Amino acid sequence: MNRQEEFVLRSIEERDIRFVRLWFTDVLGTLKSVAISPAELEAAFSEGIGFDGSVIEGMARVNEADMLAKPDPTTFQVLPWRGESPGTARMFCDLMSTDGVPSLADPRHVLHRQLTKAADLGFTFYVHPEIEFFLFEQSAPDSRRVSNPPRPVDEGGYFDHLPQGTAHDFRRAAITMLESMGISVEFSHHEGAPGQNEIDLRYADAMSMADNIMTFRTVVKEVALEHGVYASFMPKPLADHPGSGMHTHVSLFEGDNNAFYEAGARYQLSRLGRQFVAGLMRHAPEITAVTNQWVNSYKRLWGGGEAPAYVCWGHANRSAMVRVPMYKPTKGQATRVEIRTIDTACNPYLTYSVLLAAGLKGIEEGYELPEEAEDDVWALTDAERAALGIAPLPRSLGRALEVMERSDLVAEALGEHVFDYFLRNKREEWEAYRAQVTPYELERLLPRL
Ligand code: GLU
Ligand code: MG
Ligand code: MG
Repeated sequence: MNRQEEFVLRSIEERDIRFVRLWFTDVLGTLKSVAISPAELEAAFSEGIGFDGSVIEGMARVNEADMLAKPDPTTFQVLPWRGESPGTARMFCDLMSTDGVPSLADPRHVLHRQLTKAADLGFTFYVHPEIEFFLFEQSAPDSRRVSNPPRPVDEGGYFDHLPQGTAHDFRRAAITMLESMGISVEFSHHEGAPGQNEIDLRYADAMSMADNIMTFRTVVKEVALEHGVYASFMPKPLADHPGSGMHTHVSLFEGDNNAFYEAGARYQLSRLGRQFVAGLMRHAPEITAVTNQWVNSYKRLWGGGEAPAYVCWGHANRSAMVRVPMYKPTKGQATRVEIRTIDTACNPYLTYSVLLAAGLKGIEEGYELPEEAEDDVWALTDAERAALGIAPLPRSLGRALEVMERSDLVAEALGEHVFDYFLRNKREEWEAYRAQVTPYELERLLPRL
């Protein structure tokens, strides 16, 4: 047993932990959990805990169903909402086949592979997400279900300070809980839509952050229920209001140096940083099915409300897909770029994998960064956008899948297993959605036709 594993065993004893939840994530980004007793932990560390992979989205085909989950001791945290004594803790797991080979279907492994590739080139990938979500009323007191149609808990807007608002109490409780689990929060505020909030996490390396996002979604849902409300990460729950994005600031470090920073360069963005952004842009359409994975995601992207729908970059431009903020020269190490497409309901492991793959490709191939978009690209005509070389992002999940299907970059980043599974699963989602006869059609067409 290594030192970290010993530390976990000691903490379990000292803190009277009776249940240890082993967490992992399926291909669609759903958190899975199996609880074991502390007595099983030593075996879990050395051999892993067996489970039936065939019933987990994307994990295994039925003939290779037996899989192992091996806890990562560096992710040990006590779950504050489960009470103190006896307590419950969790660890994220790496998944493997019964002969100990890392599972190709494990999103954590997909990201690990991509991060190793970056590390071989000398880079560490840091990310910092701005996570938006809605608070809705429950369908009835204590029902734990969301009201239908969704009723936001308040009528607030961007940065509104609402006296005695549910949102205040909620954010305070959620942030306290996140911090107690080692997840640092930088900012929080009411967002643009009624009932919409945003919490920004302090930057971390991509693997820790993907784990943090999985924890974040759970904590936010738990705290919401404690407060008698329902939290949702659905990208566009209200047609007439902005949706929930997960703008993500990214940078590459070489040792202690921010490789995106160059004193005196435009926006202090180094050549390498420009190539990274060029990679993100060139490959944006093919990675969109991963960064925006639900049929509903496209209602956010194409629904205004400061969501980006076109492939372009800008400095202060809120309609751009990538924004390059400018920091004081003294803050060179803070140089980073903000990717605005991603939504909060993505699988963070797969999303970081494809972003990094696209950015690294830009560096490897030395892509040139196109001109900055200075206008509100939403306000331009198609012809004006075409003249500026500004292409649209896919308009629907169906379209995004067609582009992804032909992408060598995404196939390589996800690995064949996840790539095939993802396409199959998402095509089914798209077809099921496409086949609907909607209330819109019935209302508009039935009386006329
Ligand atoms: N909610 C907006 C979106 O869907 C972003 C608003 C903002 O933080 O600028 O991307
Ligand atoms: Mg925001
Ligand atoms: Mg932002």
